Amino acid sequence: MTPRTRPDLDAIPGYLPGRSFPGAIKLASNETTAGPLPSVREAIAEAAAGVNRYPDNQSTALVEALADFLDVPATTVTVGCGSVALCQELVQVTCNAGDEVVFGWRSFEAYPIVTLVAGATAVRVPLTHDDVHDLDAMAAAVTDKTRLMFVCNPNNPTGTVVNPADLERFLDAIPDHIVVVLDEAYFEYTDRAIDGVEIGRTRPNVVVLRTFSKAYGLAGLRVGYAVGAPSIITSMKKVHTAFSVSSVAQSGAVASLAASDELLARTALVTAERSRLRDSLRDMGFQVPESSANFVWIPLGAQSGDFSAASTEAGVIVRAYGDDGVRVTVGDPHENDAFLEFAASAAEKFAGATASR
Ligand SMILES: *Cc1c(COP(=O)(O)O)cnc(C)c1O
Repeated sequence: MTPRTRPDLDAIPGYLPGRSFPGAIKLASNETTAGPLPSVREAIAEAAAGVNRYPDNQSTALVEALADFLDVPATTVTVGCGSVALCQELVQVTCNAGDEVVFGWRSFEAYPIVTLVAGATAVRVPLTHDDVHDLDAMAAAVTDKTRLMFVCNPNNPTGTVVNPADLERFLDAIPDHIVVVLDEAYFEYTDRAIDGVEIGRTRPNVVVLRTFSKAYGLAGLRVGYAVGAPSIITSMKKVHTAFSVSSVAQSGAVASLAASDELLARTALVTAERSRLRDSLRDMGFQVPESSANFVWIPLGAQSGDFSAASTEAGVIVRAYGDDGVRVTVGDPHENDAFLEFAASAAEKFAGATASR
């Protein structure tokens, strides 16, 4: 007899790791290219010497450092094994089986997965034609079963941000018993016109997620954080997988916060390269929406898979999303040059697909 697992999990596709090969230029995971600062490396090495002990399950030093950094009470902050773990906790603390989680689509692939794993129902609201969250349609999708909404801003994979006034209007329209998550994984690359932590000061149903994986360059260490009302934060701690934020991760994150000026200075190069990528692609005839993150989106429709395969063939790994588009992470200038060289050679065949979708 086959050991029995939940049949509803068959609806969730297994994880497919991106293709890679020696010498490939990897512009597929929105990582930063620079390694950790010496001060961060040192903190990690020091913490490594103590890993015979369990970590502080409350991550006290990190939570206090974050509260200080953001000027919020420590009771409104919690950390997780990447902010993806916090997405999961938020579904767990808001939803029973059959409850609904609303999010834009396309957006972060983790949202449907954490929703379905919890036995809740995923309600995907298509983006506008400009690849931006359709906030009116999302508000209209609310039912008496809605418990949670994810607004990914900037949106992964399209890089687009919502209009600040539209977001305020949207938040006014959502009943305040529904938790609205502003996922700001790419906040540090934006112009900061929308700052979820500020919004949350007056809106107790808003939870903000940020991460050390992107602009802070610690994707391999696994630390993210949530800021929200103490009642929600307390609930999240109840479902938290014990000790899942390691002592090494906690120390690396504290040291990174202490060096935030130096780390955030790196984002200027990324945003300059982002503009260069966008302008060059547009000059080649591709339609590329304005990005506020560390990647650009090329809405190639049904050609997405072919474009990505051809790019891989040319040595640059990018990420195709079904029949919607291709996401290209902003890398170092020479990596972006390699991608642009491929794109120029492929423009005649593919650029038209971005206009005719
Ligand atoms: C990368 C990303 C995250 C978080 O990643 P972690 O490494 O788990 O912190 C969260 N949300 C979005 C939209 C992302 O793109």
